[in-house]
Amino acid sequence: MRVEIIKCLQDNYSYILIDEASLNACIIDPGDSKPIINFIENNNIKLKYILNTHHHYDHVGGNSELKKRYRSEVIGFKDDRHRIPEIDIFVSDNEIWKKDNFEAKIYHTPGHTTGHIAFHFYKDNKIFTGDTLFSLGCGKVLEGTHEQMFASLNKFKELPLDTEIYCGHEYTLQNSNFCLAYDSTNSKLKEKIKIIKKKLSNNLTTVPTQLNDELECNIFLKAKSLESFSILRDLKDNF
Ligand code: ZN
Ligand code: FE
Repeated sequence: MRVEIIKCLQDNYSYILIDEASLNACIIDPGDSKPIINFIENNNIKLKYILNTHHHYDHVGGNSELKKRYRSEVIGFKDDRHRIPEIDIFVSDNEIWKKDNFEAKIYHTPGHTTGHIAFHFYKDNKIFTGDTLFSLGCGKVLEGTHEQMFASLNKFKELPLDTEIYCGHEYTLQNSNFCLAYDSTNSKLKEKIKIIKKKLSNNLTTVPTQLNDELECNIFLKAKSLESFSILRDLKDNF
């Protein structure tokens, strides 16, 4: 399985997963249809599935147009079936979603929204975390509670250390400033920031990031208690 990173809207990432033998493809979080259509037409792939991590417009904005054009099926969390446009297939926590050569475990990760999910393509060692886990950050707690968000982030800590993390936005540099402000002696973090800046100056993406890097550098994953997580989340909201 190959992953193509597509920049969408302001700072969103959509991901096209391509099975190279069949050229069947999935899209994760199409915020906008245009750049996706562009890629599909130029690469002759078949867009069979549209996977949404949550219902926010910048993650589902392309659903209708893409579904109409390619007759793709839309997959989303069962409790969000009323607010994910054009949803066809409802998935639940811990379910394995399997179609063609694609195989992902669903993790319900509430906090940013109550119905947020992540897709873990475990055979390929990749997880798509939407707006729950970012590189060096985490999503704002908009609908859920801090407790839910903390529990959701803790689920990711159990994955293999070399898991590649694909998140919903390019927020890494802003996030790194916050991590550095409250974890100023972390040399691994400083190393990572150098790499991040180099990538961005070469117009490269900072995703994917690796779980073991995040465990050492992401201050929200380093938080050991709900209390310290909550303090950090509140500080970040006003940073
Ligand atoms: Zn969102
Ligand atoms: Fe978003």
